[in-house]
Amino acid sequence: MALPMVEPREGMPSRVVVYEVGPRDGLQNEPVTVPVEVKAEFVGRLLACGLQTVELTSFVPRSWVPQLGDAEELLAMLGAEVNPAGRVVLVPNERGLDRAVAAGARAVAIFASATESFARRNLNRSVAESMAMFAPVVRRARQEGMWVRGYVSMCFGDPWEGPVPTAQVARVCEELLALGCDQVSLGDTIGVGTPGHVEALLGELAGVGVGADRLAVHFHDTYGQALSNTLAALNLGVSTVDASAGGLGGCPYAQSATGNLATEDLVWALTGLGIEHGVDLEALVRTSVWMSSHLGRSSPSAVVRALADTGG
Ligand code: MG
Repeated sequence: MALPMVEPREGMPSRVVVYEVGPRDGLQNEPVTVPVEVKAEFVGRLLACGLQTVELTSFVPRSWVPQLGDAEELLAMLGAEVNPAGRVVLVPNERGLDRAVAAGARAVAIFASATESFARRNLNRSVAESMAMFAPVVRRARQEGMWVRGYVSMCFGDPWEGPVPTAQVARVCEELLALGCDQVSLGDTIGVGTPGHVEALLGELAGVGVGADRLAVHFHDTYGQALSNTLAALNLGVSTVDASAGGLGGCPYAQSATGNLATEDLVWALTGLGIEHGVDLEALVRTSVWMSSHLGRSSPSAVVRALADTGG
């Protein structure tokens, strides 16, 4: 593949970690139930594409997210060789952590909210109460030697509260880092962020001592801004970017959301910028086309469509 042409841009990271969320965040928001054997093959194919960091599943109660009710089975099926530090599982609370530890997970993510409204709806707690719930989870995960990521959702806007002040987001990020999280992922859950807003939030975080090295970005393409926002974050030194193969996963809280930034779209942009990512784009496109056949719908990713149409 000779395209895109490579034209590096001053001031960007030389290497980016593509944090693949398709098997968890992607499938969690897909209405078609996917058998565990297909999930295991999906993860295997993603790893074979060169993706080093993959969020595999979530240890939430089956009644919360039926799609991910097979977390133990999936990890058992994947085997020990796909459970090192780059394979992350979501844990909502201590019970979830117990299950993750028993299943052999080595890296976990917790899911916090920048706003009171979403904390209430998603966690049935205030922001402060949810931090109190996470504290023992993070402490024990670290005692187990696990890597810990903290997600912050609604960083760029909230469907119930509207605009979210950057200082409020920064406070939640600081608290998660103080609990012991290794990394915080800034989630634009409803996809309303724009590049200037990304710069403002990263500036706010830098002002309170939270550098880009401890941050990841998680953009949604609902309003077509995910890649623009990603470039703004890369310009300010962020070098971990969340993305979902084929753009899997809508968002149940945003009307007609197109969901996660597609990994293929991200990889195309990184390649053009001469940024190392380690991903075999053509193999990834084949994987997403294959996954689409299991979901009964085509991928919303522009790059998947373009390359699949040309036989790529
Ligand atoms: Mg997402």
